[in-house]
Amino acid sequence: MTERSAIIRGGCLLDAAGRSATPADILVQDGAIAQIGDPGLAAPEGVAVFDASDRLLMPGMINAHAHSGGNLARSIHDKWTLELLLNGTVANVGGQTLEEKYISTLLGALEMLSKGCTGCYDLFYEFPLPSEDGIKAAAQAYADAGMRAVIAPMLADRSFYRAIPGLLEALPDPYREQFATAQALPWQAQLDIIAQVMRGWAFDRDRITLAIAPSIPMHCTDEFLAGAAAFTRDHGIGFHTHLAESRVQAVYGRQRYGRSPTAQLRCLGVLGPNFTAAHAVWVDDDDIAMLADAGASVAHNPGSNMRLGSGMAATRRMLDRGLNVGLGTDSRVCSDNLNMFEAMRFASYASRVQGPDHERWLSTPEVFAMATEGSAKALGFGDRLGRLAPGYRADIVFLDLGNLNWVPLNDTTNQLVFAEDGTAVDSVMVDGRLVYHQRRFPGIDMASLRRKAQSAADRLRGANAEMRAVAAALEPVVACFCGALAREPHHIHRFTGGEIA
Ligand SMILES: [Zn+2]
Repeated sequence: MTERSAIIRGGCLLDAAGRSATPADILVQDGAIAQIGDPGLAAPEGVAVFDASDRLLMPGMINAHAHSGGNLARSIHDKWTLELLLNGTVANVGGQTLEEKYISTLLGALEMLSKGCTGCYDLFYEFPLPSEDGIKAAAQAYADAGMRAVIAPMLADRSFYRAIPGLLEALPDPYREQFATAQALPWQAQLDIIAQVMRGWAFDRDRITLAIAPSIPMHCTDEFLAGAAAFTRDHGIGFHTHLAESRVQAVYGRQRYGRSPTAQLRCLGVLGPNFTAAHAVWVDDDDIAMLADAGASVAHNPGSNMRLGSGMAATRRMLDRGLNVGLGTDSRVCSDNLNMFEAMRFASYASRVQGPDHERWLSTPEVFAMATEGSAKALGFGDRLGRLAPGYRADIVFLDLGNLNWVPLNDTTNQLVFAEDGTAVDSVMVDGRLVYHQRRFPGIDMASLRRKAQSAADRLRGANAEMRAVAAALEPVVACFCGALAREPHHIHRFTGGEIA
C-alpha cells in the first residue's frame, strides 16, 4: 500500500441530490476512491484506518475563478466598480518579489483548503508580464499546500486605457502621453513564455497544470485572441477570460466589435470545450446559446458580481440552455473570503432576487453541483473530480457534525449551502493525502507565514505608493467616463430592480 491509501470508516456520505447522508466506508487506493460500501467494508491488510466518526463526507469543492496575485491586497478598497479596480490593479497587486508571489499564493491555497475547497482555476497575475520564475513560485506554493490548481497566467496586448474607446483621450496630461506610448510585448512573445514554462514543467500535471487567460477580450487584439485559441488547442490546455463581466464591458464591447464580445470570440474560433467565461453577467440568450453549443463553461462569481456592482448573472437561463456553470469566488481584492460555502450561498440568494417565480430559483442541489462537478468540468477534470464515487480522486472534505452549523440536522444539502460557512471543516484530503488535519496544516509554519505576509503587505504599500498616486489621480476620470458608458442603452438587464429574469 502507498501512503495515499486508507480506509475511511464511520463517516456519513453526502447525497446532495437526495438531501441526505448515509453511513458508509470509503476505500482509497493510490489517491483514488477504489470502493464505497456499507460500514465494515473489507480493506486490504495493513491499510491505514482513518476514523471519520461524526463526520459528513463531501467532495472537495473547486473554485472555478480565483486570482492568487490578489491575496496580499485583501479587502483593500470599499466602493469600487470593476473599472475602478482595473484602474488600480498595478498599484495594488503589482511589484511583488518572487517570495511574495509564493506567499500570496500559499495564503490563498491554505484559506481555500481550510474552507473545504481542494482545487482552483488561478488567473495568475504579474505585471507587466508573466514570468517563468513567477509561475513556478505559484505552482510551488500549491504543491507545498497540497492543493490542486490550474494556473492560467493573464495576458493582454492592449492596456485598460486603450481598450475602452475614448478613455485614453479623456485622460489628463501627462498620463495620456504616458499610456499612449506604452507598448505591450507582442502577443507571440507572450505565448512563447508560456510554451517555455510548459516545456520545463516539473510539477505533477495531474495536480498542478497550466492554462492561459487572455484577461478580457477587448484588452487583446483579435490576432492575439485567435492565436491564443490555436495555442490552447495545440497544447491541449484551457482558455479562460473575463467575459461581459460589467455593463460597461457589454456596451463598449459592442461599440468595438459591432456585435457582442461572445459573438466576436466565436468568430475568432475561441469558443470550445476548453473555454471558460468568467462572470458572463451581461450575456444575452444568443450568447448563452453560443457558449452552450460550443461545450464551454461559465465560472459564476456571485460574490464578486455583487461586491463590484457588476450585476446578477442569468444562471437559470444558462442551465436551461444546457450550459455548464462552475462556481468561483474571484479575488480577495473583490470578494474577500475565498470561501466556496459563501459562494454557494451567494449563488443561491442571487438567483432569488431576479424574479418572483420560485420555480426558477436555483435549488441547493443545483448550487452544490456547480461548486463541485460544474467547476471540475471547467478545469478540465470533469471525469475525476467533483464527486465521491469509485474511480474519482480521493479529494474529500470532512465536516464535523457536532459543529453548531449542524445542530440540529434537518436537510443536509440545504444546511450545506445555506448554513455552513466553513467553520465545520475538520480535515481535508487531496489525492488520498491529508493536507488539512484536525484544523492544522501538516508541515506549514503558520506563525512564520503570518509574519512574512504582513511584512510583504507593508513593503508593497510603500513600494507601490507612486502607482497608487497615479491610480488615485485617474480614478475620477475613469469613474466619470465608465459611469456614462454604464448608463448607455443596452438590450438586457442584469441589475436587480430591472427586468424579471
Ligand atoms: Zn477575475
